Amino acid sequence: MKALVKKEAKPGIWLEEVPEPTIGINDVLIKVKRTAICGTDMHIYHWDEWASQTIPTPMVVGHEFVGEIVEVGSNVIDFKPGQIVSGEGHVVCGRCRNCMAGRRHLCAHTSGIGVNRPGAFAEYVALPMSNVWEHRPGIDLDIAALFDPLGNAVHTALQWDLLGEDVLITGAGPIGAMAAAVCRHAGARNVVITDINPERLALAKQLGATRTVDVRNESLADVQKSLGMQEGFDIGLEMSGNAHAFNDLLSSMCHGGKVSILGIPTNDTTINWNTVIFNMLTLKGIYGREMYETWYKMSVMIESGLDISPVITHRLNFREFETGFQAMSDGIASKVILNWEE
Ligand code: NAD
Ligand code: ZN
Repeated sequence: MKALVKKEAKPGIWLEEVPEPTIGINDVLIKVKRTAICGTDMHIYHWDEWASQTIPTPMVVGHEFVGEIVEVGSNVIDFKPGQIVSGEGHVVCGRCRNCMAGRRHLCAHTSGIGVNRPGAFAEYVALPMSNVWEHRPGIDLDIAALFDPLGNAVHTALQWDLLGEDVLITGAGPIGAMAAAVCRHAGARNVVITDINPERLALAKQLGATRTVDVRNESLADVQKSLGMQEGFDIGLEMSGNAHAFNDLLSSMCHGGKVSILGIPTNDTTINWNTVIFNMLTLKGIYGREMYETWYKMSVMIESGLDISPVITHRLNFREFETGFQAMSDGIASKVILNWEE
């Protein structure tokens, strides 16, 4: 089968012919229909320090996908060929304390598809049945391919009660922009989003942000005043990984504000702990998606009208992957969909 492979330990990704995956008795084989390029794939493409320390080569990359089940192992009774599914990319151990307690997203031994085990940028991908999510009938395939990053947005945003609250999102990348849509859908009042990239801010507005802030030209404090918010934001979602953005967010929160942190900060990120302590903020780190409450929420929000389609800026055939990776590198793309149906 054809697959996008990190073949060698150097920058680049290659379209290669590789053997089709074989499945075990508990696995499901999926014919891939659409995939999406993630920031993680960009790290692997550019072969940065994290990638070179993490990814064994050769490795079929990619983890954001939707496809159709074509074969199931002999133990599998809940799934059958023909179903349209995505996969939770975090494969958990099933035996640690958290897994045994049903808190699978907190497994201490998670391995990632397209990172530690063969991924989804391929004609076929195999997954344990416990990682398979069946979509509601009639779902748009491009949207279904985005359930992994949409899940990051949903997991981060739905940590807190959003109804009527004022939300600040730092970083209008694809995940921040989708989070804006989720917060509006969940009934937030103000959804203010920051970035330094005007195109990304415009996209976030399309997705439902009520106010966008280019922090190069405007201060959050001024915006807050102009919106008549006396005491600061109730909820903060950090989705930039940028230290300035994070500190800005912390100092814009009301006393008792709640902050969830998805953005992966650089090693030298320092924050003002006095703000956290004296303003009694709650900070929570977020990784991946909750298995499977986040997936349930995504499915039902899409069914009840959540529209994230503007986040898709490019639709390409998988053979045009270089164009997609380039558009991501240039910062002109938000989500790039690769179509694997010939
Ligand atoms: P992205 O890099 O596309 O988006 C980050 C955005 O932050 C960019 O648009 C950038 O212009 C903006 N930014 C940079 N400096 C800023 C500043 N000073 N103020 C405001 N915005 C600023 O990333 P993404 O794919 O949308 O993901 C968001 C973050 O979440 C990234 O840091 C990513 O690494 C992280 N992530 C974490 C998990 C997890 O499980 N914890 C999963 C996926 C992604
Ligand atoms: Zn575990």
